[in-house]
Amino acid sequence: MDNKQTCDSYTAIDVKDLLEIDELQPGVVYLEEGHNGKPWLAAFLCPCGCGEACHCIIRGMVQGHTGPSWTLTNNDSGVTLFPSVHRIPERTCGAHFFLENGRIKWC
Ligand SMILES: [Zn+2]
Repeated sequence: MDNKQTCDSYTAIDVKDLLEIDELQPGVVYLEEGHNGKPWLAAFLCPCGCGEACHCIIRGMVQGHTGPSWTLTNNDSGVTLFPSVHRIPERTCGAHFFLENGRIKWC
């Protein structure tokens, strides 16, 4: 097992329940299906190689959610989250990047 490597491209897969995934794989964005069949959460290993998971709530999918959320696009060009993902420097690696068309663009 080696999830400490950096990653610059991602492919999205749909999952029913993230808890059934024992170990996130590098380069995979897991989209957990919500009650209406659309993804409500994107989870993936941080591209910096720190080995931690990033969790992004999809905008409009959680009622009453007031924290950060992202718009999700997943089409032939790849998976895109907008705006950028910025991990809290005090508590995490502090990575700041865009995921655009399946590619990581560092900020
Ligand atoms: Zn990181």
